[in-house]
Amino acid sequence: MNRRRRRNKANGLACDGLRLLTSAATVPDGYNPKEATMNRRSFSKHTLMLGIGTLAGAATGAPQKGGDARADVCEEPARTLPARKFDVVVAGGGTAGVSGAIAAARQGARTALIEAKGYPGGTVTEGGTALHSFFNLWKAFPRVKKRQVVRGIPQQIVERLLKVGGTSGHAQMLKGYDYDSVCTAIDTELYKLVAFEMLAEAGVFICVNTFLAGALTEGGRITAAIAECHAGREAFLAKSFVDCTAYGDLCARAGAEFTEPNDYPVVNSIGVANVNVEKYYEFLKSHDAVGQYAEGIRDGKEGQIVRLSGQTATLPREFSEAAGRIGMDTATTTVHDNYFMFIKLNFKMPVSPTNRDEVAKAELELRKRQVKAVELFRKFVPGCEKAFIARTSPSLNIRRARLIKCDYDISHEDVVGARHFDDDVFAYGFHDMAPRIQIKNGGTYGIPYRALRVAGIENLMATGMMITSDHRAHMSTRNTVCSMGQGQAAGTAAALCAARNCGTRDLPYADLRKALEKGDVYFES
Ligand SMILES: Cc1cc2nc3c(=O)[nH]c(=O)nc-3n(C[C@H](O)[C@H](O)[C@H](O)COP(=O)(O)OP(=O)(O)OC[C@H]3O[C@@H](n4cnc5c(N)ncnc54)[C@H](O)[C@@H]3O)c2cc1C
Repeated sequence: MNRRRRRNKANGLACDGLRLLTSAATVPDGYNPKEATMNRRSFSKHTLMLGIGTLAGAATGAPQKGGDARADVCEEPARTLPARKFDVVVAGGGTAGVSGAIAAARQGARTALIEAKGYPGGTVTEGGTALHSFFNLWKAFPRVKKRQVVRGIPQQIVERLLKVGGTSGHAQMLKGYDYDSVCTAIDTELYKLVAFEMLAEAGVFICVNTFLAGALTEGGRITAAIAECHAGREAFLAKSFVDCTAYGDLCARAGAEFTEPNDYPVVNSIGVANVNVEKYYEFLKSHDAVGQYAEGIRDGKEGQIVRLSGQTATLPREFSEAAGRIGMDTATTTVHDNYFMFIKLNFKMPVSPTNRDEVAKAELELRKRQVKAVELFRKFVPGCEKAFIARTSPSLNIRRARLIKCDYDISHEDVVGARHFDDDVFAYGFHDMAPRIQIKNGGTYGIPYRALRVAGIENLMATGMMITSDHRAHMSTRNTVCSMGQGQAAGTAAALCAARNCGTRDLPYADLRKALEKGDVYFES
């Protein structure tokens, strides 16, 4: 297969792209829709049945020291499991899953949330740290007004964070990148706590440290999600299911159709302490290298630097070249003095982020790069002489793994054409590739309900980074605030379906719309 590679243009991507210090040598996956299409591997439907052994994950044995431990096959005997009964099961308590579970529970559905880690939050708390964006991209359009288009549960999370000093608030970009108009930086640890509390208050049955491991299906419906925790294996029976795992684990195990485009690098982003943000800014200014600059709330004070990044062209060559070799992007955000985070180290997976053994190699490589990244800051950036790594992500951050086939696939034309649908579940107005790609007239497009319904399965929805095949459109729909909105929509729909005992396709849109409006979701059509 021809794996063409293209250099990423310096002013290409926004908050989360490969814009600044990345180079073709280290990040060989600049956007190329043709390549993305050609690299897709189609998988046939394969339902994982309870009790039958699977080779999934075990069949990818990359040679490691200790030899190739692949054996033949082995059979796992069927067994009877303890079971719990719910109306709605949300798999994955990350960016979308938190809003999804809260929304379902607030509708009165008995809701379980299955989260593999010990806390909710997902990539918001591990990868990005700045939420993009609650607002439209108005700045590039002289007569267009700034307006907040995402509200509902995502906005309620921000309000809770504001109360505990866990966010910069909606900070407006003041320098450079007009498109990146508003970013909302967060304290990732407080985000976990706030999300946990809001889930508990809504009455969600929260299962952390619990891995979604299988699905039982019958006649095109999921009847149970199978999960594993330290105590063992358990079945979660429910009427409606929402897959918010980012990896599409529930969809795959239920037999949904999917592909694995592998069209983004993976990352492990880091938090750095003992830094002087003002001096970092002075350093960038002295090299005429300020890329992104935003002021917001830091340590309770307004008007502080909360987002900063450097442009490679005018930075000391030794620094920018070394940063390029480790795939480092200098974009940083903070809501605290003496601390910044979100230094990204991009690494391209050879096959897919679902390939366990390649992931093991990437995890090691990225940790080596993290040490190098901080060494570079210590050496070159005044105010960072004694900086150290205060946090890393517990595991690889992905931008997409499985792409799940849904009833509708949001296209690039839908996004840039500001298209709204007759089954919109909210409006969204941010694009990560602006100003190269803008939404028409600084407006919004609609996320249609049908884009969340998993094709071929009656009672399953997919959210977040798992939907939208076109890479350019995905550079909008996968962003945090869009994922959170999708979560609220899917959770609400799942609860309504459970209450009516109907499949996702039989839910009257008018009922969904009414419930979403009641949940403070904003619509533009
Ligand atoms: C490095 C990086 C930087 C980014 N920067 C930005 C940014 O600045 N602004 C922005 O808006 N967007 C940014 N993004 C994009 C955005 O963060 C993600 O696309 C979005 O958070 C995806 O949300 P999600 O709900 O689909 O997945 P996640 O938030 O990852 O949630 C998935 C959850 O499912 C859990 N899970 C997975 N498998 C299982 C299983 N089998 N059983 C149980 N639980 C499971 C995970 O632990 C996780 O909690 C960035 C992404 C990355 C990787």
